[in-house]
Amino acid sequence: MSRKALIAANWKMYKTPAEAKAFVDAFLPLVADHTRDEIALFPSPVLLPTVVEAARGSSIAIGAQNIHFAEEGAYTGETSASQLAAIGGTHTLIGHSERRQYFGETDDIVNKKLHTALKHGFVPVVCIGEVLGEREAGMTASVLKIQVNGAFAGIKGLAAEVISSIVIAYEPVWAIGTGKTATPEMAADAHRIIRAEVSSLLGSDVAANMRILYGGSVKPDNATALIGQEEIDGALVGGASLKPDSFASIVKY
Ligand code: PEP
Repeated sequence: MSRKALIAANWKMYKTPAEAKAFVDAFLPLVADHTRDEIALFPSPVLLPTVVEAARGSSIAIGAQNIHFAEEGAYTGETSASQLAAIGGTHTLIGHSERRQYFGETDDIVNKKLHTALKHGFVPVVCIGEVLGEREAGMTASVLKIQVNGAFAGIKGLAAEVISSIVIAYEPVWAIGTGKTATPEMAADAHRIIRAEVSSLLGSDVAANMRILYGGSVKPDNATALIGQEEIDGALVGGASLKPDSFASIVKY
């Protein structure tokens, strides 16, 4: 089964518009001849128009780090799917662990956001992963299964081409921004658990085609070992995606 890898940058709450444009201007020439994988940038909402404009004409996809599940309304501080679509965004992260940890996002909210993202034709990157205490208590598999089931409630009835756009990012929370990385074997094990759960929920064909990324302190020097695993279909990169040369060398793992 060959799944085209997706290498995605989560810029979190970093960069000004000028810095974002400078990144894209420097990054595009570094990856101009790179067609093996898909590349996506996830800047904060205020940067999205600048980054969409700077990347216009390239094959780089641009997405939001979060959308609201409602179509519109009195949700101060939030971004709707229509607003994202209107400025040219095509992808969105959903349920990043920082959203779950600091903004109270539950599996139920993640599920609602996933339905909204699919309705608007976005490529949703659904983030799941265990915290350190859960890993140490031997609960990783059960946590991942609960998160997959929670996120994917009601998805089975959707059209196959809609479901096939979904990407999962396995991000062990203890490895995000900490410099600690899951070993390639640990990551591949978790990916097998996730794929098996997707298979039992949505069928083996869907599971075989679904891209599952790894995220958590991916750097130029560990990218090849991680993304080189058969089970790992790309990476979601935070800190090491903020500099064009560092992110380009991850893209070229
Ligand atoms: C992330 O923000 O999704 C992430 C994986 O961050 P980092 O690469 O810095 O661990």
